[in-house]
Amino acid sequence: MNFERIKEKLNILADAAKYDVSCSSSGSKRANKNKGLGDSSGMGICHTYTEDGRCVSLLKILLTNHCIFDCAYCVTRKSNDVKRAAFKVQEVVDLTINFYRRNYIEGLFLSSGIFKNADYTMERLVLVAKKLRLEENFNGYIHLKSIPGASDELMREAGLYADRLSVNIEIPTEQGLKLLAPDKKREDFIKPMRKVKNEIIQYKSEKKLIKSTPIYAPAGQSTQMIIGATDETDAQIMYTSAYFYKEFQMKRVYYSGYIPISHDERLPSIGTDVPMLRENRLYQTDWLLRFYGFSIQELLNKEHPNLETDIDPKLSWALRNLQHFPVDVNHADRRLLARIPGVGMRSVDKIINARRYRKLGWEHLKAIGISMNRAQYFLVCASSKFEAKDRTAAQLKSLIMGNSSSKWRGAYSSQLNLFESNANVTVS
Ligand code: SF4
Repeated sequence: MNFERIKEKLNILADAAKYDVSCSSSGSKRANKNKGLGDSSGMGICHTYTEDGRCVSLLKILLTNHCIFDCAYCVTRKSNDVKRAAFKVQEVVDLTINFYRRNYIEGLFLSSGIFKNADYTMERLVLVAKKLRLEENFNGYIHLKSIPGASDELMREAGLYADRLSVNIEIPTEQGLKLLAPDKKREDFIKPMRKVKNEIIQYKSEKKLIKSTPIYAPAGQSTQMIIGATDETDAQIMYTSAYFYKEFQMKRVYYSGYIPISHDERLPSIGTDVPMLRENRLYQTDWLLRFYGFSIQELLNKEHPNLETDIDPKLSWALRNLQHFPVDVNHADRRLLARIPGVGMRSVDKIINARRYRKLGWEHLKAIGISMNRAQYFLVCASSKFEAKDRTAAQLKSLIMGNSSSKWRGAYSSQLNLFESNANVTVS
């Protein structure tokens, strides 16, 4: 093995992969078998991050950054003048095992540019996973990117060796995709997603009858959208996201703020801020839709097609719907409690549990950990009168923002530093 060359490839291909944010690895239960290597169950694999906020507990690389496509938003596009490299299948296997043995990583996140064609590339990704599982007896976490347009047979095989599969939607709307990646078709993303969904269902039902049936892609599938490369609204993004959650039973949809990388009049110009705050508001909205019982229509609609960036989406909704408040924390049901700004789902559970024993007042709510700066204007409890009084939404917003310690502000500015010299990358 030529170590210098491998090191060089690693630099190029890890750098090209690092801005793909869809590397969450939670949810897999692949246990260590036959005294093999690794154990992806309960190891908190993906929740360690580098100082730049990206996940590092996985070896996160591309198989190659050669690509036959020319997607305008991607640093790997064929017209971009960057250093290219490609790993051999065995090199990725060896790297993964060596890094694992040294305790550098707990798994592998493997994506790729498309060389030759979708199947040629997908076949190699699958081969890496297969060799790790069958030849190296590796039970650590494996996340494989699926190549749009890959055949059903390869997708079926991929899920037998990988914990998670993902295909990036890339651009939230079909028009946007047409504009920036005219060679690609939406159907190329949909087809492998549908295949993965159907295989998961089929393997699950077979397992009920035959215990020895393997689990197909135990951590499910995920996808990623680039935000801000085209001019879609937040409402369009969240409707797209909801469609993919529902239709393909996605475990996660990731939102990745576009990092301007090229002089292209179809794209935001170089120097335009990366929409980190918007990215965060979309994640919060995603959470409200999946876990808090909100509908998209409540948060985003014709009158409000975009999220406010200066306040979180729940507070924004509450200020537009003051008629629903105050909520009585000692009597309200779970759904209403979850709508109080500053009250998370864990706090909802704690409130419901605690109020069985006593009437809750300020001191109890503070002890539970709810954010009183926001919550006090939207609830009543044993010790309070209603703090909102006759204030208007605008007055409440300014009061809350005035008293906010703004924990995000610092985080955003430090994250923005990450992008000073690096280009946005997304791979299929
Ligand atoms: S997004 Fe994927 S297909 Fe498009 S240029 Fe990048 S690596 Fe190639």
